[in-house]
Amino acid sequence: MDGGSPRVGDARPVRVIFVGSPGAGKGTQAARLAEFLGVPRISTGDMLREAIARGTPLGKEAEPLMGRGDLVPDDLLIALVRERTAREDCARGFVLDGFPRTVRQAEGLAEMSEGEVSDWTVFSVQVPREELLRRLSGRRWCPRCQATYHVTSDPPKREGICDVDGATLVQREDDREEVVARRLHEYEERTAPLIGYYRELADVVEIDGNRPMEAVFADLKKHVGVAT
Ligand SMILES: [Zn+2]
Repeated sequence: MDGGSPRVGDARPVRVIFVGSPGAGKGTQAARLAEFLGVPRISTGDMLREAIARGTPLGKEAEPLMGRGDLVPDDLLIALVRERTAREDCARGFVLDGFPRTVRQAEGLAEMSEGEVSDWTVFSVQVPREELLRRLSGRRWCPRCQATYHVTSDPPKREGICDVDGATLVQREDDREEVVARRLHEYEERTAPLIGYYRELADVVEIDGNRPMEAVFADLKKHVGVAT
């Protein structure tokens, strides 16, 4: 833990949920906030990839679905999160990343915490659609070392070439324009209704995600429910 972390020792657990579109910067902010709070970041995407790599029963169930680009069933994700949040390192709280993504998943999450979500921190990160499109469709990736770039906001020194190893950068399938449009549509249909769901149960903190990363993070820190 760095010296700047708040003291969460005996305080009530800090549980944080992010709702935001692909490209809103949730993943990066969730990782930073978890580090700041000294609690685990729970990423369902990472857990699924790990379960598949380890060949667990859950991984075997998820692998063909993910391979086809199909959505992983809500109940499978709920089981995964239930198991993970029951571990001891979550006693002081956690930051969820990529979950819940549907109202059904949010209901599953509420059940595992016996409905007590009123003191959870729910961030709704808003970024205008044209900015999301710019961010996502401009992403480039090095297939050799996995470094990521952006054609305008974080370009490599030589166009299309990785700074680290000179490999030719590619655009991931997920970031192609027509796929991006589908992902944004899926978010609107399946995930955006979560904002209304949580407004009934807890305080939803609206965050303007269309700002530099540091400004967004400063805002998040102000709003996490940490006892001082
Ligand atoms: Zn590279």
